[in-house]
Formats: sequence, structure tokens, C-alpha cells
Amino acid sequence: MSSALDASLSCAVRYAYEHSPFYRARLDGLGLSPAEINTALDFRRLPLTTRHDLAEQGAGMWCVPQAEVVDIVTTSGTTGLPLPYPLTANDIARLGRSERFSFQLAGLTRNDTVLLAVTLDRCFMAGLAYFEGLKALGATAVRVGSGSPAMLLSLMRQLSATAIISVPSFLKRVAEYASGQGLELNHSTVKKLICIGEPLREADFQLTPLGRMIHDAWGARLYSTYAATELASSLCECDAGRGGHLCPEAHYVEILDDLGQPVAPGQVGEIVITTFGVEALPLLRYRTGDCSFLIEEPCTCGLATPRLGPILFRKNQMLKIKGVKLFPSAIQKTLDGFGGLRDYVLVATSSSPLSDELEILLEADEAINLDLLRERLRGDLKVLPTIRLGTAQEIEAVRDTQNYRKKRLFIDRRSGPAHA
Ligand SMILES: [Zn+2]
Repeated sequence: MSSALDASLSCAVRYAYEHSPFYRARLDGLGLSPAEINTALDFRRLPLTTRHDLAEQGAGMWCVPQAEVVDIVTTSGTTGLPLPYPLTANDIARLGRSERFSFQLAGLTRNDTVLLAVTLDRCFMAGLAYFEGLKALGATAVRVGSGSPAMLLSLMRQLSATAIISVPSFLKRVAEYASGQGLELNHSTVKKLICIGEPLREADFQLTPLGRMIHDAWGARLYSTYAATELASSLCECDAGRGGHLCPEAHYVEILDDLGQPVAPGQVGEIVITTFGVEALPLLRYRTGDCSFLIEEPCTCGLATPRLGPILFRKNQMLKIKGVKLFPSAIQKTLDGFGGLRDYVLVATSSSPLSDELEILLEADEAINLDLLRERLRGDLKVLPTIRLGTAQEIEAVRDTQNYRKKRLFIDRRSGPAHA
């Protein structure tokens, strides 16, 4: 273990103990003093922080008074309702520095004109973070948002934009719109697509069907990233495309098994994060619920820092349908690669403690071949979920978009604490 890491970890524990009523009470309750945490090994004595802690404690976890908070974002609400996450002015500057590091990995420079095709309002941290990152880099940001493919294409041409930051599903939508207009994206000025929010690579780093579709339509390099509001930074891959590089100044990532013990490099487990340098709401050993693996060999780009593999699934989302175990992400992969689908949502319910049911609610073009889709799902999953055609309004209602900012593709209505 490097001594720089040991120093960052012990500094993070000291800060949390001194400023957060929650962490002070927790360490005191265990009879642990920050002075005893001096190495990465000592650090493992700390209990994990959960989403439940954030929800229950609220401002009891904040390390600064409200007067020092300059912005409040919310967590993405993939599971449960979004929770407030405060930022100080220094936290926003820190976000900018860590995003600059990510953009540099993707090869962006101050000479790039970047279309920021993400939401900048609705308490979304990512849009703000990416804008701050581009500003720190000195690149030109164009805050086009994710509402209109026509506007994005028009600004792309007008400004000769060189890169786009977006969720993959919007890049797919723009590509479909362009194709409908008879426009060829392959020869556009855009050479780099920084993709956020959804994983684009398989466990072996090959592109997913959605990733391939976007790559082929745009003829541009894809960069997959991983981020969470609570991480207050993102991990971006370099040109090697083999995992997101950790930023040792911004965070520490552990991969733990079901018992909370570290797994060996390359082994899959839950991503547990600790933030460095965060003033308002630093987190120690926070369970993300996302599962992946770490790669510790130096990267071909020359960086020796560990990399995080693609997100393979979310803990607690495993379904058991007619005796077959599967993850919603596997179903999404098949759906994302299928033509004629406009939108979909997966809804899980439980018929008994041992068996789950899954319905796929689809909005599709009239020409969609449902028999072929059923055949493909059965081939990929070994079991066939219920498929129902619906309208965009029905899907919106199921998603409860009033209360959730992030577009939810999987709704878990199974009972039991494991799925809460
Ligand atoms: Zn690299």
C-alpha cells in the first residue's frame, strides 16, 4: 500500500470525525479514535456507510453549516427517492478538477468544442460537474442539453463541434433522427463521444450492442465513464478502453464481497467508495450497490493507477424467474440492441419468496417483429419474461417521473428488505 494512500485515508477519517456528527458518533460508539487509522489496513476496521444512513441522517451527516453550502444536488434515485447532497464552493471547484482529469484521459484539450448534451438543472450533479470540468480544462462548452436532436445537430454543424458528452440512449436517438433526415453522421466533425450513466462495455471490454450501434452510427470513439453523485467525481477510460482510471486525489475504491471483505483484483464485488477532499458531505466506505472489478496492472497509456471495470450488475437486482437467475442489465442489453423499440421499462414483482415475475412494457414502432424479439430474449436469457405493448404515457406513469429524475429502466416491486 502506498503511503500517499495511507495519508489520504487517515486525513479523510480525521476530517469526517471532526466535522460530521454522524461519523463522530459512529466512531465513538465503536471506541475507535481517528488516531488509530493510519493505513489502508486500519481503514478496513471502519464500518460501511449505506444509502440508508444518508436517508436517515439527512443533515446530520453534513460537515459544514448551511451558510457554507452554495448548491444542493440530489442523488440519482436509481433506488429509492433522490436524497439531497450539498456542495460548498470548494466542492464545486474540486468537481471541476476531477472532471478535468477524466477529460484529459479521453484526450480532450482546450482546442475542443464540446456539446454538453446532458441535463443541467433538476438538481443533477453531472451536468454541473462536466461544465466545471470543461471550464477547468479550458475547452469550449456548449450547453445544448438533451431535449432536441435537431438542435444538437444544428449546433454541431454550426460550431464544428469535436466531442459530445451524453447518455448513450440520447446519442442513439440523435443517430436515428439523423438517419430519418438522410444525414450522414459518420463524416461529422465529432470524433469523441463521452458516454455517461449507462455502461457501454461487457466484462471483456467489448462494446455492448448499444455501444456498437452508437459507434457505427457516429463513426466516433466512445469513452465509457462511471460516476455517482456520492462519489463526487467520475472515472473515465483512456484510449485503451479497458476500464475507468481511478483518480487517487479524488477517491478510493474498494471491491468487497457479500461479507464486506475485499476481493482479489479481477474478482467481481460491490464498489465501495471513499471520497477525498470533499468539504460538505464526504463519505467513508460508502456502498454503491454497483458491482464490478478492479484491474491493477499498469495501463498501456502509461498510467499505473488502478482501473475499474464495467458495471456488470446492481446488487439486490438479481431476479429468479422460473428457476433461472438473471439480472435486469442482461435484459436491457438485448432490448437495447433490438431495432424498432422506442422505449421500455422492466417491472419486477414477486409471486412468492422464491420466484419473481418480470414484465417488459414496450413502446415500439408498428413494424416491430415481436416474435423475433421473443425468440432473441429466450435465446439470450433462457427464460421469457412477459412482454406488453404500451404507450409513452403508460411508461412515464410506471416510472413515476414526477419523483425520479433519472430515467428508470427497472422498477423493483418485489417485497422484502433485500429489494428496498
Ligand atoms: Zn489508460
